Amino acid sequence: MNMIPFNKPYLTGKETHYIYDAVNSGKISGNGKYTQKCQAFFESHYGFKKALLTTSCTDALEMSAMLANIEPGDEVIVPSFTFVSTAIAFVRQGAKIVFADSCADNPNIDADKIEALITDKTKAIVPVHYAGVACDMDKIMELAAKYNLLVIEDAAQAIDSFYIGKDGVKRALGSIGHMAAFSFHETKNIVSGEGGMLTINDERFIHRAEIIWEKGTNRAEFFRGEVNKYGWVDTGSSFLPSEVIAAFLWAQIENIDIIQEKRKLLWNAYYDGLKAQSNVVLPQLPEYATNNGHMFYIVAKNIEHRTKIINVLKEHGYHAVFHYISLHSSDYYQSKHDGRSLDYSDKFTDCLLRLPLFFELEMDQVKAISKLITE
Ligand SMILES: *Cc1c(COP(=O)(O)O)cnc(C)c1O
Repeated sequence: MNMIPFNKPYLTGKETHYIYDAVNSGKISGNGKYTQKCQAFFESHYGFKKALLTTSCTDALEMSAMLANIEPGDEVIVPSFTFVSTAIAFVRQGAKIVFADSCADNPNIDADKIEALITDKTKAIVPVHYAGVACDMDKIMELAAKYNLLVIEDAAQAIDSFYIGKDGVKRALGSIGHMAAFSFHETKNIVSGEGGMLTINDERFIHRAEIIWEKGTNRAEFFRGEVNKYGWVDTGSSFLPSEVIAAFLWAQIENIDIIQEKRKLLWNAYYDGLKAQSNVVLPQLPEYATNNGHMFYIVAKNIEHRTKIINVLKEHGYHAVFHYISLHSSDYYQSKHDGRSLDYSDKFTDCLLRLPLFFELEMDQVKAISKLITE
């Protein structure tokens, strides 16, 4: 039996064409034609003030931690139910992570519980838009303004998803916080193998971001002819991807509308196929959030129930996976955590299950999976 995988990266067909073009142009290091085409697209399409491609979302988060001047002793508020990178980028700068719980009905950070975690050492809040579904950004931005904190969105899963504010304005995720980080890892909606992007919406950080991106040098300015020599001016690292990766990403960007349409179609088919049953709970989208079809997950009754569903799907050739073991109880951070229990984060750790969702998945397969879960 052929196993239906959990994920399969979709190739649009133009990737190798653009890579060939990049290689032929003789310029294959970073910040060339394709990098600039990708960045210009994201800025104009989604309203980011500045976009910089990076080699991963983890790198973009590391850049944001450097730009935020996170130092030993600073505290950063992060949901516990997230990928390691959300926390580790700040831990590397010496921060103490103060883990926040998820909402009861949604894995996102519970914005109503953040204020109680803020101290005079808090520097930043890092909301994660889980499954591409917006966090309550009005509340989070109000807290940040009140306590003078930075908001860095982990928008790894959130390309082409939006938040509708109290003012009625629809804003792209990644354009609301002071900075945001996206991923183009092969499990995300648009991909470049490994890849990511830092977006900057607070102009104070743009100049320094380009320097940190280019090994602490002002090379980006030099290439634009704004300074007549370049050198070492600040801290930094090598965060920019080669043109080979940017060329790959450009082929994906050209097809983003087709990719998004198909993913949302599959997501809706799962929802329609499962909404009548009562074995598992389906994702709840708050009225302020849009859906980008990144992920379809279900919430089982308990860990045994989830294992049973995984096994039934496996017997029929479908690979479903769970993820995120609450970071506050990880081997690495458990002893550094302040001991608070985070019940909803633990609930999603035990009960959340992701169903196969990728461009080439077929409607019949979605129907078959939904039927198995219903029965
Ligand atoms: C995928 C993901 C990351 C890491 O992205 P990379 O590009 O692999 O570094 C970080 N945070 C979240 C929430 C993710 O889903």
